[in-house]
Amino acid sequence: WMLKYDKENPYITHYDYMIELAQKYDVTFSLGDALRPGSILDSHDELQVQEMINIGRLAKRAIEKDVQVMVEGPGHVPLNEVTANVILAKSLIGDVPYYVLGPLVTDIASGHDHIASAIGAAVSASAGVDLLCYLTPSEHLALPTPDEVKEGLIAYRIAAHAGDLVKLREKSIKWDMDMTEARRTLDWEKQLALSIDPEKAALIHGRTGQHPGNNVPCTMCGGACVYIMLPQQRKYEREEKKLQQTE
Ligand code: SF4
Repeated sequence: WMLKYDKENPYITHYDYMIELAQKYDVTFSLGDALRPGSILDSHDELQVQEMINIGRLAKRAIEKDVQVMVEGPGHVPLNEVTANVILAKSLIGDVPYYVLGPLVTDIASGHDHIASAIGAAVSASAGVDLLCYLTPSEHLALPTPDEVKEGLIAYRIAAHAGDLVKLREKSIKWDMDMTEARRTLDWEKQLALSIDPEKAALIHGRTGQHPGNNVPCTMCGGACVYIMLPQQRKYEREEKKLQQTE
């Protein structure tokens, strides 16, 4: 429309009217960045940063009129710029929720973009981003299937939890502590139940040849399982000590 009629974005020229409507119907604005990078190569170029400044101004105008705002960020950002992106955006947009689409930290992961973006998501979450928009393995290729949606969601739950462990350590560490204890005691029921994807964990653990039940090692190290060897070693040391004392 803008190209056809050679006119400015009507949402900008009628922004005050949009604010009036949002006030009247209690609508929250989601201000997205149309000039966000489409590749890590143009991350934080002049256009993106200038737009972020404009979005900060639009956010302030809406908040002054009591309209709630959230701001959407990139996209595609190399790993070394992810934290800087969150700090810059937060300083420009003020105290409103900032959310990002990962970001993808590389452009070559087609078929695995949920992983490439979950890496960026974990870093942005730890840097203080407020919401993560998840990607699936089919990003840049096709619409996702239900299974791909599940894969993407799980990748992002892991990323969000990794971020929470940095941001809210005491509030989120219990899950990891419980898993560590379940691993130490070779409590497989508990380990599977605590897994982020219990179904997949059970499928892998239940492969042919897998040791069944609790207190047995898995097939990764078998008899050399540290959780079997360590208690044996400690018991041996205790007995040795007793023997030396009686001699
Ligand atoms: S066998 Fe190895 S991987 Fe499996 S539970 Fe023991 S230490 Fe862990």
